[in-house]
Amino acid sequence: LINGDGTIGETVYGQMTALAARTGAVNLGQGAPGTDPPPELIEAAADAMREGYNQYAPGQGFPALREAVAGQRRRDFGQEISSDDVLYTCGATEGLTAAILALLPRGGTVLAFEPFYDSYPAAIAAAGGSLVTVPILPTAEGGFEPDWERFDTAAADADAPPSLILVNTPHNPTGFMFNTEDLAHIGDAAVAADAWVLTDEVYEQLVLSDTTHVAPATAIDDEARVVTVSSAGKTWNATGWKIGWVIAEPAVREAVQAVKQFLTYTAGGPLQIGMARALDGAGDFAAENRRSLRERAEILVPACRGLPGAIASTPAAGYFTVVDFSALTDLDAFELNDLLARRYSLVGIPVPALCRAGSSAHAAYRSSIRYSFCKSVADVDRGAQLFDELA
Ligand code: PMP
Ligand code: GLN
Repeated sequence: LINGDGTIGETVYGQMTALAARTGAVNLGQGAPGTDPPPELIEAAADAMREGYNQYAPGQGFPALREAVAGQRRRDFGQEISSDDVLYTCGATEGLTAAILALLPRGGTVLAFEPFYDSYPAAIAAAGGSLVTVPILPTAEGGFEPDWERFDTAAADADAPPSLILVNTPHNPTGFMFNTEDLAHIGDAAVAADAWVLTDEVYEQLVLSDTTHVAPATAIDDEARVVTVSSAGKTWNATGWKIGWVIAEPAVREAVQAVKQFLTYTAGGPLQIGMARALDGAGDFAAENRRSLRERAEILVPACRGLPGAIASTPAAGYFTVVDFSALTDLDAFELNDLLARRYSLVGIPVPALCRAGSSAHAAYRSSIRYSFCKSVADVDRGAQLFDELA
């Protein structure tokens, strides 16, 4: 461990990918798609390489990408921004880290929903801040809901007032989507606490239900305090390209860019150009990806439910199902995942790895494992078969 409290250890995604490799198990862990990006996208990047976009890109990112992102936010979510508000980052991960380092005062508090993407606590620790969490928990109706009472208490805590509220919508791993009222409520709390709202919208295009993604910046009255983060990896089956962006008014965007220049300075030049060309006609591929993800969910989720006592979620968005095994076993999710890897050749992500040790979410998800259905149809089929055998 790099720091004493364990916030910066090996990521669970690396650990579980290694477990799958070691045991030869089907890897339904890391959310890395099992299919390639569309050929047009690959061609567009290859063209950019042939056209000579092979040296350092500008620090803010190529204008073509920033213009394409501004157009896409306007078209898809009604978020009115200019290309000057956009900063290219090496995936959403770098965008989130740079924003946290730029905006969080030393000793400041970040309020985030839990479970969370595991880079959050690491970035907050690196910024010398502390993390306070609000659980998103399963409901009796089979969905998920944040604990709003806990949110209100934490947001108004005079001893640890949040400097930054982090909102991941659609949420990994539950697929929970914050609606307009939820976001307006978060915005009011941010105004009262004088906090920034930092968003993480990487699953914005992967809405599998009939709900619509609401970009927080469009629902929060004081839009100037919203810093939007998203990326193209999930939408385009191109997680390896690490094309992400931060959107904020120019003075804030400049502060984030000041940090970003000492993290990677810049990356992915020709991939930025390729993505810019593809983003302009994004709708069709995203629709196709959603259709295909729904099909794979329909293979995996019923198979999980075929195991008596297992409770598997149907996500509103994203590409994960959370399976609660607590009615079946006393094992915790790590022990169970290990056992399933060795005996049944199946690996997922233990949900407690995405929670703070000792939190109520950590306890609620003690025996829950997240399975990704963004994998190839063959892998999803094999995962489903393994559940059939388990049943
Ligand atoms: N946020 C969430 C919620 C994620 O699940 C992920 C990972 N896939 C990321 C951010 C990272 O996105 P990127 O690959 O663009 O860095
Ligand atoms: N966010 C991806 C997931 O949740 C993994 C990203 C990573 O490996 N860092 O599966």
